[in-house]
Amino acid sequence: MATIEAQNISKYYGKQKALSNINLTIKKGEVVGLLGPNGAGKSTLMKILTSFLPPTSGTALINGVDVQEASLDIRKLIGYLPENNPLYTDMYVKEYLRFVFDIYKNPGNPNQAVDRLIDLTGLQSEYKKKIGALSKGYRQRVGLAQALIHDPEILIFDEPTSGLDPNQLIGIRKIITDLGKEKTVILSTHIMQEVEAVCDRVIIIDKGRIVADDATINLFKMAGNKQSFRVEFKEQFSENILNQLPFIDKVQLLSKNEWLIESKDNKDIREDLFKFAVANNYNVLSLIQEEQKMEDVFRRLTEQ
Ligand code: ADP
Ligand code: MG
Repeated sequence: MATIEAQNISKYYGKQKALSNINLTIKKGEVVGLLGPNGAGKSTLMKILTSFLPPTSGTALINGVDVQEASLDIRKLIGYLPENNPLYTDMYVKEYLRFVFDIYKNPGNPNQAVDRLIDLTGLQSEYKKKIGALSKGYRQRVGLAQALIHDPEILIFDEPTSGLDPNQLIGIRKIITDLGKEKTVILSTHIMQEVEAVCDRVIIIDKGRIVADDATINLFKMAGNKQSFRVEFKEQFSENILNQLPFIDKVQLLSKNEWLIESKDNKDIREDLFKFAVANNYNVLSLIQEEQKMEDVFRRLTEQ
């Protein structure tokens, strides 16, 4: 049984269409990145999956149960960090987490549960402060802690790292990566590197539609069937010589003797290039395989 399922979900805000026929299935233990530009519909989809917002049409299911039918039960299964992480800034960290613990009517010892989360989210040095006095990075940690307080099996984090500086960001990603080992996770972001770093699967949405849904590794391959190589020869020669080679699709002269070469059929042609050079008495000064970037995949998939 799928842990999370969206069946033909569409959402309108008045006349504004936010989601269009979304279908997805997420299995237990997957860590899925929901990637898309601002306004793509990421937050709307997350609110629907967590039962905070009803879809206009279609059904969201958690463990096979319609979230609109059993919203309270569903919320016990889900830890949700909403966009902009709304917190009570006048409360002390520990007091707030205790407050959230009580809302869920959790069984067990509240102090132990809260202390465990303070450790888990790295709030040991901050838990005596008021939330309003915390840096953005620590506020996000409080947001994560509140989402985890009832030990949910599913975590839905809406842009958990947005607005963080690089150091804060690494800390939060580390926590999410660790959580991903035990939980089913959906996180939204518009940062490609984030899904690369954290997620094993990526769902790209654009203008309310899913434009790609695949393993993170596969999406790199989808960036067009092109592999590029940057090669510098000692000798100068004409473009025709390269264009004639059967393993080359496209060439571009970058500087005097340096070329950007796209291979045919997504092939690694480094060896072919060396053999070509040796056979023709050319000297290869450098040869670099350009990395496929998630940015390229995204641009291609969301291009008009
Ligand atoms: P994302 O999280 O990917 O930035 P959202 O789900 O917030 O996207 O928004 C999707 C679309 O729905 C956008 O066009 C946005 O302007 C619109 N939208 C979101 N929330 C509301 C709302 N409460 N009322 C009207 N339109 C909304
Ligand atoms: Mg959003």
